[in-house]
Amino acid sequence: MEQHARTDAYVDRYAARAAGMVPSEIRALFAVVSRPEVVSLAGGAPYVSALPLDAVGGMIGELVASRGAEVLQYGSAQGDEGLRERICEVMALEGVQAGADEIVVTVGAQQALDLITKIFVDPGDVVLAEAPSYVGALGTFASYQADVVHVPLDDAGLVPSALRETLERLRRENRRVKFLYTVPTFQNPAGVTLSAARRAEVLEICAEYDVLIVEDNPYGLIGFDGEPMRALRADDAERVIYLGSFSKTIASGLRVGWVLAPHAVRAKLVLAAESAILCPSNFSQLAVREYLNTQPWREQIKGFRELYRERRDTMLDALAELMPAGCTWTRPAGGFFVWLTLPEGLDAKAMAPRALAERVAYVPGTGFYADGGGHRHMRLSYCFPEPHRIREGVRRLAGVVEQEIVM
Ligand code: PMP
Repeated sequence: MEQHARTDAYVDRYAARAAGMVPSEIRALFAVVSRPEVVSLAGGAPYVSALPLDAVGGMIGELVASRGAEVLQYGSAQGDEGLRERICEVMALEGVQAGADEIVVTVGAQQALDLITKIFVDPGDVVLAEAPSYVGALGTFASYQADVVHVPLDDAGLVPSALRETLERLRRENRRVKFLYTVPTFQNPAGVTLSAARRAEVLEICAEYDVLIVEDNPYGLIGFDGEPMRALRADDAERVIYLGSFSKTIASGLRVGWVLAPHAVRAKLVLAAESAILCPSNFSQLAVREYLNTQPWREQIKGFRELYRERRDTMLDALAELMPAGCTWTRPAGGFFVWLTLPEGLDAKAMAPRALAERVAYVPGTGFYADGGGHRHMRLSYCFPEPHRIREGVRRLAGVVEQEIVM
């Protein structure tokens, strides 16, 4: 990074906000982990090869042939109405009652994060986020010069008493909290889920301190047991802004996500979206709409759940069998990630190059903290590698940790 700054002849010309735009540790890793001999437990890419690719190809060809003039044209900034209606049906699976007019379609949930931060956050404003938190959200918050204050989580998700203490302290300091950003279900990176009892508590505390909640929920339908969790938004339509995405349930490459917000906020988001992109891709939106209209998408998501469940099981079994004593990890009930804690004294970031030399990659925990924390942690993903590669990756990783312990 330092070298980058030294060789950047434009550095004096950038806006102050560009200083917060630095490459994430994940991005830096991608160059190395794409080598075939490396088992990557680092990326978060969904396993899109499991989609019925022929059927999708046929459907898209048919869509362009029959309605090309619409599909290849600009659309509305708020997004296609037919798609927004289908999105309401998807969210109903998590108890959310909403109308199509309350939704803005975005270029992935990532753009929703960007637009929300753009309309709410001035430089120095406080945004609360779990510790650890989604690296892409932290990047967005940094790019708008937010002051991220972390609130710890444990195996049952965000800790309500810690949330209350943090809000109390910030109130004493006279600092305005713009929103709480949370991934309550199958969290990235920790793999934990906010319990039902804590959901009620978090809503109550945020109501008491009058704090908005940004509920980011791309993994909600990728649960391995039982019915989907009830979204926070299902119980408070005024306080909760909900972000959804088809990246994990259908295909990340289509870049279709959405935000569900109270009407006034929704109107601002549409204006912000207009100036950012004019409108989301009609091609992608209509492909998703057509997919939801014509393909057995509920069955296909069920297939994804089974595929990821098998990989989660493979990873948890391999960790239990192979990891040296003193390591602990979370047991995700859905989503893509396990969060591993190393024995005291070990540093996941310092260890990463040695792991790469042993041909295994992970993301060091430090990328998921805005405050320099996370050294003893790493994120392990099981979404993309085939099960036998997951096992091999964990075997290599266990060997590296073993060596670190004796060093
Ligand atoms: N939020 C979280 C928690 C994520 O894990 C991701 C994807 N890694 C996103 C948002 C962005 O997803 P999208 O592809 O919809 O932009």
